[in-house]
Amino acid sequence: MNTIRFTGGSSPLSVGKILCLGRNYPAHAKEMKAETPSTPVVFLKPATALIESGGTVIIPKFSRQMHHEVELVVVVGRRGRSISADTAMDHVAGYAVGLDMTLRDVQADAKSKGLPWSVAKGFDTSAPVSEAVRRDAVKDPHDLDICLRVNGAVRQSSNTRHMLFRIPEVISYLSSVFTLEEGDLIFTGTPEGVAQVVPGDVLKAEIDSVGSLTVGVQ
Ligand code: MG
Repeated sequence: MNTIRFTGGSSPLSVGKILCLGRNYPAHAKEMKAETPSTPVVFLKPATALIESGGTVIIPKFSRQMHHEVELVVVVGRRGRSISADTAMDHVAGYAVGLDMTLRDVQADAKSKGLPWSVAKGFDTSAPVSEAVRRDAVKDPHDLDICLRVNGAVRQSSNTRHMLFRIPEVISYLSSVFTLEEGDLIFTGTPEGVAQVVPGDVLKAEIDSVGSLTVGVQ
């Protein structure tokens, strides 16, 4: 699946690029023993990393430590470049629930050598995303409870109000670097509580007003 669907059946969008923010919740930066950034930390996943709710995340054979990161995902609805924060929300089609699945051992190794994170973050099945809701269905994207359960037990529980860089600022910044196109996805970072998953686990991610996403692990 290289498309994102909307609840209510309006036509799906083809996903181009997946832009992701790192360390966008101070409590998560702290648990990673990383500094809170002064400009957004950005990395990409390929569209081939997408899976839908009901799918299975597959741990690559070269990793021994996959972590979950629940995130609010912004679906871009309109192309733009150098977008101002004032008009940024006009470029949002809607929102979805996402999981930024991360090979923490591979990432730690890359970090220690000053190498990129593409393998740790962009492998096949690393981007489970729910169906999206239209922008109008969400009153305030910066006041949404966000939660992840593993086998029914709460692992991550926070609120999007704790984001360091808010959506208009994120869109403005990203569009100063990358032309944003309809169907691009923006993962807005994870709150604290990231932890390991193992084969057989069932992950259920939920965000108020946006929806839920369930995946297995293999
Ligand atoms: Mg993340």
